[in-house]
Amino acid sequence: MIREVIGLAQRIKCKVEECAYNDSYLCRAEEIEVRSSGENRVVNSTDGTACETFKPKDATLINPEK
Ligand code: SF4
Repeated sequence: MIREVIGLAQRIKCKVEECAYNDSYLCRAEEIEVRSSGENRVVNSTDGTACETFKPKDATLINPEK
């Protein structure tokens, strides 16, 4: 099961270069969580989604409340 999850993550293309998990536009996280990006928001396009697993490469940008 774990092997399947890792294999899936290795196929996730992502253009968020600022994320610590991004390696040449591929996600290297073992798994990711994606959610709607706003409170009480109707999601009907990719703009309404956000990756909850995002971790900034620049450690000074980490939100201590998250
Ligand atoms: S964790 Fe999310 S934002 Fe970061 S590389 Fe993976 S898919 Fe992209």
